[in-house]
Amino acid sequence: PKYVYRFDEGRKDQRDLLGGKGANLAEMTRIGLPVPPGFTISSEACRAYMRDGHLPPGLRVEVTTALRQVEDALGRRLGAPRDPLLVSVRSGAKVSMPGMMDTVLNVGLTDASVQGLADMSGDERFAWDSYRRLVQMFGATVLGIDPRPFGEALDARKAAVGAVSDVDLTAGDLRGLVDEYLQIVRTTCGREFPQDPREQLDLAIDAVFGSWDTERARLYRRRERIPDRLGTAVNVMAMVFGNLGADSGTGVAFTRDPSSGHAGAYGDYLPNAQGEDVVAGIRNTLTLDDLHARDPTSYDELLAAMRRLETHYRDLCDIEFTIERGRLWLLQTRVGKRTAGAAFRVAVQLVDEHLITLDEALARVTGEQLGRLLFPQFDRTAGAPLLTRGLGASPGAAVGEIVLDNAQAIERTQAGVQAILVRRETNADDLAGMISAAGILTARGGKTSHAAVVARGMGRCAVVGAEALDVDEVRGEVRVDDAVLRPGDVIALDGTTGEVFRGEVPVVDSPVLRYVAEGLDAGLRSAADDGVRELVHAVHRLLTHADSVRRLRVRANADTADDARRARARGAEGIGLCRTEHQFLGERRRHVEQVVLAGSEDERQAALAALLPLQRADFTDLLEAMDGLPTTIRLLDPPLHEFLPDLTELSVRVALAEQRGQVDEHDVRLLAAVRRTHEQNPMLGLRGVRLGLTVPGLFAVQVRAIAEATVELRRAGRDPRPEIMVPLVGSAREMQLVRVETERVLAEVAASSGERLRMPIGCMIELPRAALTAQRIATQADFFSFGTNDLTQTTWGFSRDDVEGSFFPAYLDNGVLTVSPFETLDADGVGALVRAGVESGRSARPDLHCGVCGEHGGDPESIHFFHQVGLDDVSCSPFRIPVARLEAGRAAV
Ligand code: ADP
Ligand code: MG
Ligand code: MG
Repeated sequence: PKYVYRFDEGRKDQRDLLGGKGANLAEMTRIGLPVPPGFTISSEACRAYMRDGHLPPGLRVEVTTALRQVEDALGRRLGAPRDPLLVSVRSGAKVSMPGMMDTVLNVGLTDASVQGLADMSGDERFAWDSYRRLVQMFGATVLGIDPRPFGEALDARKAAVGAVSDVDLTAGDLRGLVDEYLQIVRTTCGREFPQDPREQLDLAIDAVFGSWDTERARLYRRRERIPDRLGTAVNVMAMVFGNLGADSGTGVAFTRDPSSGHAGAYGDYLPNAQGEDVVAGIRNTLTLDDLHARDPTSYDELLAAMRRLETHYRDLCDIEFTIERGRLWLLQTRVGKRTAGAAFRVAVQLVDEHLITLDEALARVTGEQLGRLLFPQFDRTAGAPLLTRGLGASPGAAVGEIVLDNAQAIERTQAGVQAILVRRETNADDLAGMISAAGILTARGGKTSHAAVVARGMGRCAVVGAEALDVDEVRGEVRVDDAVLRPGDVIALDGTTGEVFRGEVPVVDSPVLRYVAEGLDAGLRSAADDGVRELVHAVHRLLTHADSVRRLRVRANADTADDARRARARGAEGIGLCRTEHQFLGERRRHVEQVVLAGSEDERQAALAALLPLQRADFTDLLEAMDGLPTTIRLLDPPLHEFLPDLTELSVRVALAEQRGQVDEHDVRLLAAVRRTHEQNPMLGLRGVRLGLTVPGLFAVQVRAIAEATVELRRAGRDPRPEIMVPLVGSAREMQLVRVETERVLAEVAASSGERLRMPIGCMIELPRAALTAQRIATQADFFSFGTNDLTQTTWGFSRDDVEGSFFPAYLDNGVLTVSPFETLDADGVGALVRAGVESGRSARPDLHCGVCGEHGGDPESIHFFHQVGLDDVSCSPFRIPVARLEAGRAAV
């Protein structure tokens, strides 16, 4: 097979093969943008490397051919003593993993070629600076040397010659530094720094492939749900130099503002620097306007290239560029990461600019992003004291205790305290802390720094470049002017405005939440400025479009009238799951106890009769709130003992009473009942339909309450639409028995009231047996609702309450699971049962209505699956409804 592709051989849709970076470099080359020549070694090679433990044998030969083509195109040889070609060796997976994997620049520099580079450029200083960077980067990433001694040697040299910044070091200083660096390599590795350019290249390629499997890369992938098997591609590309003096430089740019979405060029620029300096946040950057002032020609070219890219990709792009002595080069582009708010605004802006259709716009925003926009924000009127200000790099409102490193961040978070990670700047090693923390604050770096990019990627609130901040790790404190703060002190970050407050700041609803909960006017009224109003409008347009294209109906899981109203305001088209267990708790427990303790049928009936009016009132409220919309009410599901006193407590009470000689007859009988109903494994015990078929009259009283509430509302001119749902059905016979009883009660109420009472009677499918015998069950059920929580538990044999904290972390680590099956539906296993259930159910009853209740109903990925298998609706918590509407729309376009 072929493993190596020149940039002029690929295209942007080959990300699987070439990785995102490689595919986009190829695309830019193809459309004639200035990209230095190079080639991509495919991720296929990485997969072979992971599988076999070494790279494919033919690879070196293919690399030679491609390298020679680059050499011939430029008329230079890799690392030649005269006029040397240098290359970068860059990682690049299908999905971008900013800063997670390795890149080595200036490969090909040796003791011999450094002089050639100096002659070619006419710049000694530049040549030695480049060599210094190579030894350091190669040493750290390829030879695995601790990078600190390099940094220390650099600082020492600067101090010795009184240099303030790297730029102040002379060629001689740098040359001395290179000697020191080579010595560091010699002593720590026991080998010479490789002086053969091709050996450098091969070692760098191996190292970049190897960086796919580092601890931090794996951690990042798990978080971002990127499969480990993808592998990375490696890009080898001729070097261009941003560190060739004042007319050179490097930068990062966006075709639109990635936090507001506003059109216009936006970016960071560093004169006389190489690419990694910008991302590392070592020096504070200039703006593109500054570049305009310094070099109008390059600026104009850059803007033309950016416009070209936006037209071509029809989306916000971010790019890495370098200017070498007034000549612009593009080194990377991709459809840019953006904040949730910008995603909505950009999508709608592009529709208005007639660059994309509304369907495409819908595909470009996600339910997860909408979910983020529903987060609370700081209350502006609270007047909290401003500590300092930085750049709002990733929106959100975070309040928490200062922590200064990963260990503290993890420790506080595990203790249940919100933590704010405060760093001078961040790098890939800070990832664990960034994941734990509620917010991230850095003193250095721009909106494209590591902290900003990673925080945006994971939706974590971040403020960067707060320059007044002095982070002193040694003394463990943070100083701002006169103020000294220490770990444990509380601060609050506004990731939109960049404000940092001291102490707690109260939070309020976001305008987008006001919009989804109370309507467009309320949302617009609560918006602070035009930008936020634009956002509310954008969400409204895309959500309205989603509603118009989706096939899945969206219902809510709501138990009370209040929940129901909340869900309805957010666009719920019915209730998919009303649990009735709360109707048996609190004060009403004593009636349940009496049902259990009843000595005779009459006593039992009396106890049940006492529950009837209470339940009827609950159902009347609920059905009134859902007037005109289907409302699925589930008959009692949990094991009976959940409504009885705790065994231990009651035993103690009875024993103490006996000691005092005051035996309480009721308690003694109750204790016997509790003992009788005690189960080793209640989840698989007497619950759901089993309870209904063993405790006579229990389901009947619920059905009667529903029926009577319906009659009452109808007489008041309302339109109640109850549906009765039976939980935990495993056989058609169970369903048939409940159905007969339910119809009997409905007929009684119909007869006594003179109302016609027909309502759907269906069941949950939450046991594998139910899914497998769905064809027969469907003859007894008017609808199915897949209870995917229990179905996941019973399919995997996982007890949710027990496994998530115990072995799930290990299972996520070793790749048995990529995500908890309780969060995202396990499409292969549990999903197969859902699919089979729908298909066989409908083979018996073609019009069988199928829905899903359970947390998966609000999970984006799962919703797409439910759409595919042809469900009619999903039901989720009221808060998730807008997310589900959006995702159901996205699934349909
Ligand atoms: P990352 O994926 O971490 O951004 P990159 O592979 O993009 O890593 O490279 C790191 C930095 O080096 C970037 O700023 C990039 O623009 C710069 N760079 C990469 N290749 C070259 C090259 N051939 N010439 C000049 N700069 C380069
Ligand atoms: Mg990059
Ligand atoms: Mg269940």
